[in-house]
Amino acid sequence: MPPLSQLHQDIDDHVQYIRQDQPDWLCTKGCDTCCRQLADLPQLSAAEWFLLRQGLAALPCEHQHSIRNKVAALPDQPPSPITCPLLDTTTGACPVYAHRPVACRSYGFYVQRDKGLYCEDIKLRVTDGSLANVVWGNHDAIDQRLATQGDTRSLKAWFETED
Ligand code: SF4
Ligand code: SF4
Repeated sequence: MPPLSQLHQDIDDHVQYIRQDQPDWLCTKGCDTCCRQLADLPQLSAAEWFLLRQGLAALPCEHQHSIRNKVAALPDQPPSPITCPLLDTTTGACPVYAHRPVACRSYGFYVQRDKGLYCEDIKLRVTDGSLANVVWGNHDAIDQRLATQGDTRSLKAWFETED
C-alpha cells in the first residue's frame, strides 16, 4: 500500500477505535466548523496534492473554475480565521471529501496542543464529560510520516504550480 494510503488507513483505524465507544462523536462529513475556522491555509505534501487534484478533476468544470477563482483571490497569508476555499458554504460539505488532506482527516482526533491545533467543539465535550475517555492521537507522529511525502506547500502555492 502506498505510504499516504497507509497513513489514511491508520487514521481511519484510530477514528473507528474512538467511535466505537463514542457513538455521539460529532466529527463527521457535514460538520464544517473547522473548515470555516482554519488558522492558516491548508498545507499539503506533494502526495496529498496529487490526490486532491484527482478529486478536483472529478468536479464539474464550473465548480472547478469557481474554486480556482476563490483560491486565486486569497492573499498569500490571509488573516485567520480562514474559510477553506474548497468548502461548499451552502451545504457545509467538502466537495473533495474522499481526497481531502490528512489534516482534515485528523483534526478532530489528533492534537497538537503546543500549536493550539485541536477542535474546540470536541475539547468542550471532553471537558464537560459528555465525551469521556477520549484518547487523542499525537499529530507530531503524523507530521513525521507526511514529511516523507514530498514538498509541503500551501494550497494556494500548489494551485499556482498549475497556472
Ligand atoms: S474537527 Fe470539530 S468542527 Fe471539524 S468536523 Fe470534527 S467535530 Fe466538526
Ligand atoms: S479540504 Fe475539505 S475538509 Fe479540508 S478544510 Fe477544506 S472543505 Fe474542509
